[in-house]
Amino acid sequence: MYIDGQWTDGAEGRRMVVVNPATEEEFATAAVGSAADCDRAIAAARRAFGSGPWPAMSRPERSEMLGRFAVELRARVDALAEAVTAETGAPSASVRAVHLLAPLGHLDHYVEQARQPDTTSLPLQVNPRPDGSSWLGGSVLVREPVGVVSAITAYNFPFHLKIAKLGPALACGNTVVLKPSPNTPLTAALMAEAAEAAGFPPGVVNVVNGGADVGALMCTDPRVDLVSFTGSEAVGAAVSAQAAPTIKRVLLELGGKSAMIVRADADLDAALAMGLGSVVTQSGQGCALTTRHLVHADIYDDYVAGLADRVRAIQVGDPTDPSTAMGPLISAVQREKVEGFIGDATAAGSRLVAGGGRPADLDKGFFVEPTVFADVDNSSRLAQEEVFGPVAAVMSFRDDDEAVALANDSNYGLGGAIFSADAGRAFEMARRIRTGQVHINGGSGASPGWDPFGGYKRSGLGRELGDAGIADYSEIKTIKYHAG
Ligand code: NAD
Repeated sequence: MYIDGQWTDGAEGRRMVVVNPATEEEFATAAVGSAADCDRAIAAARRAFGSGPWPAMSRPERSEMLGRFAVELRARVDALAEAVTAETGAPSASVRAVHLLAPLGHLDHYVEQARQPDTTSLPLQVNPRPDGSSWLGGSVLVREPVGVVSAITAYNFPFHLKIAKLGPALACGNTVVLKPSPNTPLTAALMAEAAEAAGFPPGVVNVVNGGADVGALMCTDPRVDLVSFTGSEAVGAAVSAQAAPTIKRVLLELGGKSAMIVRADADLDAALAMGLGSVVTQSGQGCALTTRHLVHADIYDDYVAGLADRVRAIQVGDPTDPSTAMGPLISAVQREKVEGFIGDATAAGSRLVAGGGRPADLDKGFFVEPTVFADVDNSSRLAQEEVFGPVAAVMSFRDDDEAVALANDSNYGLGGAIFSADAGRAFEMARRIRTGQVHINGGSGASPGWDPFGGYKRSGLGRELGDAGIADYSEIKTIKYHAG
């Protein structure tokens, strides 16, 4: 762990094992934080914010330091790729592009953002005096850091999720206590190493390991100003409750059950490519994956058959093998949960068309076959709850209104997609879907740093990335003055 600019094994010297989900091997250990370590990290972040050099630095100086952080992270890309694959089972074929280089592009955006002016002048006002003369009144808006940020992350994209918090938080001049998922301490340690090498003043970036106990302290401590959380809906609700008594700002990036709508005029191959991606990407452990496939009745049978064929052709197995497309789930517990969904879906009358079991040739690792269910009822558990595994729920619709209604018939609202030859019609439908992002015909092809990301409804509160991310990690102060 990295606290107040120093490496520590923690006050109690406890350690946890890190398990490779593809081999079930306990391949590393990591320090576990205690209440005392959490206290020390929050105290360091508070001190660094209150009296350290960080908040007093000029914007170009802060930007330069963030730029050095990006350089140090890039210098560790090989080690980070190895750690992400070993900790999460992400296939090595895609780990660099998806897990590392895309978020590093987001960080570059924040290096630029950190330089941007933090004041905005409002229009001058002419104010009448009783004697008939007048005076000028002016005001400026000043963007300031919120203070100490508790950043708590999930396991599935361990590097990206931390960059999405560290980037905007540091660009605005906040200090951070970061707690990674207990499944992914190694990625976090490498990132702390890069922060140390970049030269952030002590206490600006702190990394404390631990589970719910440490996380809860990070939400309740009165010295913390903002809690930025990425994880499940249930823990997000707990985080909100924990933070409420001290009126902290809370940002929540939670789960999803996103819908992709495939209209009758869609390019079927393009839709199937995204449909397949939503099953196999990170073994289905992605918050914004479009796991509900809503397909027009006229092309429904072709879509179901096409998706089943593609899913069966996927190579599942050792994530370090460059030809592997899908690795394991994170843990035995997660696999059991996913298998529970598969059992329930079958019992609820959904039609299993591909997968549904464990790969016959893999006797170690938390693997589940990529699985497709057709004829899924949108009110069923499979369609309403987040599986966080490689399981597609396919259902049909007859017209655009029904498709939009089905897409919106969810407690979540994170991602979404529409495939149609009529881009204008797809755009109008996108406006009607209550969700944070909609990709038309596969989207823009990239995820640039200026795209905000976040959820409607129970998918969360606030936005990360983009300029919206800057707003969420800032306070706005109005300074009013006599201008003459
Ligand atoms: P989780 O909710 O189990 O854990 C997330 C983090 O919260 C972990 O670091 C955990 O130790 C910590 N935690 C647990 N109890 C806590 C408490 N009481 N107070 C504070 N912290 C506590 O989630 P997970 O299983 O690691 O990740 C999967 C979930 O994350 C899915 O629901 C997924 O959709 C969501 N997710 C969302 C996004 C997004 O951007 N919206 C991105 C990735 C993952």
